[in-house]
Amino acid sequence: MRFVRYQQDDKPVQYGWIYADQVGPIEGTPFGEYRRLEVDTSIQSVRLLSPVIPGKIICVGRNYVEHAREHHADVPQIPLLFMKPSSSCIGLNDEIIHPPQTKQMEHEAELAVVIGKSGRWIAAERALDYVLGYSIANDVTARDLQRLDGQWTRAKSFDTFCPLGPWIETDFDPSDALITCRVNDELRQMASTREMVFTVSQLIAFASTVMTLDPGDVLLTGTPAGVGVLSPGDKVQIEIEGIGTLSNSVILETSHL
Ligand code: MG
Repeated sequence: MRFVRYQQDDKPVQYGWIYADQVGPIEGTPFGEYRRLEVDTSIQSVRLLSPVIPGKIICVGRNYVEHAREHHADVPQIPLLFMKPSSSCIGLNDEIIHPPQTKQMEHEAELAVVIGKSGRWIAAERALDYVLGYSIANDVTARDLQRLDGQWTRAKSFDTFCPLGPWIETDFDPSDALITCRVNDELRQMASTREMVFTVSQLIAFASTVMTLDPGDVLLTGTPAGVGVLSPGDKVQIEIEGIGTLSNSVILETSHL
């Protein structure tokens, strides 16, 4: 099933589900008790929002060997965790705002895991029981600031630096799915999730040794090789086989002027 968060005209934002090319509301939330109501609206006539506003966004650095190599970095012996704020989340077709502080804003196409059940010290063998579903994320990064600061908070946390969507797919196998990223139709990234250094199960287990994972938390699983610069006017499209396509355009920030 596909869960969405959506808004039609100026009606309140709500959770829903998709059937064929129609969307219908649900009572409750996908993270607890819910009831699906009839699909009643064309998906074209609603705005799909980030399918969840995460309590926390837990991310993993250098989880693909070739990506570590392109940055001349070692592959971590244990997962390298960092975080992004939920205020960085945007949804399908929302604009990524290029802030004036960076001269090297880059895309990172990633599989996003949406947690559905609370847990700590989760065993890897049971980890997928804690997953509600999967989505697509772009871990947008100000690469020059990441290098300059020596740690990653500022570089990863600008508003709009976490496009997420277009929905949460519950029926998905994360072990071998193709991820592609195109910028203005040029292929930039292509790899299978099978090339991850640490699997989704291992990442959930590891993160849960540090912090309680809660429903609505999102885990970004790292990016393959091929990251590259995004400039104002660019259109970035990330596709994950079995989930869908997340598209966003880039605009220059002018609100400080
Ligand atoms: Mg990343």
